[in-house]
Amino acid sequence: MHNLKIAFHGLCIVMALLMLPLSAVALDMGGIRFGQHGTTTRVVMDIDKAVDFSATLKDDPARIVIELPMISKNPVIRRSDLPPLIHDIRVEPVTGISGTYSRLSLIMGKEKAIIKSAYMIPSQGKNSARFVLDLQPATQSAFIKNEGRVFGTLETSPQPTTGKLPFAGLGGTKLDPIGTPDEPTPPEERPLIVIDAGHGGQDGGAVQSGVREKDVTLAVARDLRNVLNASGRYRVELTRDKDVFIRLEERVRIARRLGADLFISIHADSAPDAGYSARGASFYTLSDKASDSLAAGLADRENKADLIAGLDLPSNDKAVSDMLIDIATRETGDQSRYFAGKLYAAFRKNNLPLLPTPKKSAGFMVLKAPDIPSVLIELGFLSNPDEAKKLTNQAYRAALAKSIADGIDDWFSTNKH
Ligand code: ZN
Repeated sequence: MHNLKIAFHGLCIVMALLMLPLSAVALDMGGIRFGQHGTTTRVVMDIDKAVDFSATLKDDPARIVIELPMISKNPVIRRSDLPPLIHDIRVEPVTGISGTYSRLSLIMGKEKAIIKSAYMIPSQGKNSARFVLDLQPATQSAFIKNEGRVFGTLETSPQPTTGKLPFAGLGGTKLDPIGTPDEPTPPEERPLIVIDAGHGGQDGGAVQSGVREKDVTLAVARDLRNVLNASGRYRVELTRDKDVFIRLEERVRIARRLGADLFISIHADSAPDAGYSARGASFYTLSDKASDSLAAGLADRENKADLIAGLDLPSNDKAVSDMLIDIATRETGDQSRYFAGKLYAAFRKNNLPLLPTPKKSAGFMVLKAPDIPSVLIELGFLSNPDEAKKLTNQAYRAALAKSIADGIDDWFSTNKH
């Protein structure tokens, strides 16, 4: 009897991936951990970097299918470590549109489960990046309702996931403990706000009266992050937290990769043609047609960031301009404009200077995430010496950050998203 028990515990699942040529984005997976928080089963994969993923609920057999870039090394999992909701895990390589991916199938036992949330946590300090999947037990009808729902943005268009599941490997004798569940209270209930400090690196943005736009935007982005973090209501990420150049498309890509619920790009304007008198903040949403000539000129200047770095400006693509038109009519556009209105109201309430018509639209590259409400804020005019001076003042910047946070609070508490 005793021997039998040992033999049973000796059963383990080795994720022996078929050795295929690694793609450029091969992923190192340190291990898979499981945790139980109330009725929620948490699956945590320690990986070396945040990547695009997809997680989908499938039937026959009931399972969660997770697709990630190709995993370079095989994590080993003890069967005895599997939580009650997960009966088995299988891994297979799949060939997609741009390379080879790893597909992990978390196969359920008798009890059905659905995906509560799935997200990527970028590496921070000495913590590695993590892919987190929360599952909760579900009735058959809830299962059916959630089947096929996709979390994440990775599009592999690979071989169909129906039919018989191939095994990558089962058995093996080596038992490598993979750590114990130690996740703190799940932060995923809180929405993620990505703050984009405009410009950076060789792209200084507007420079007037000795004030560089790239420094102002980063300072306000950090202030805003502090205010939002202090509220405890949000998760916050910055597209850049130092003086580096990031191309416009990459800023959008970062927001999408992280699964942002809201994207805010921060800038400070300069109006060479309007003399020194133009002052006040303004809030821009995406449109294929600029709302006025000021907006059009501004979008041209802001979109030049990539040219400054000697890169092609992808907005010349017809596909992109078609997409701009398309996006502007979608729900994301409505939500973005609604958010711009909330920002405007918050600035007005806090007596901050505003342009006469502060809500504008134009074809900003950085606002083109089709699925994330996005607003670009021009904090004020560096070409106005008074305003330039104020934008370097810490108290004034704190007031700007507070007002943006007020607008965010208002938007999240009133917007159905
Ligand atoms: Zn700018």
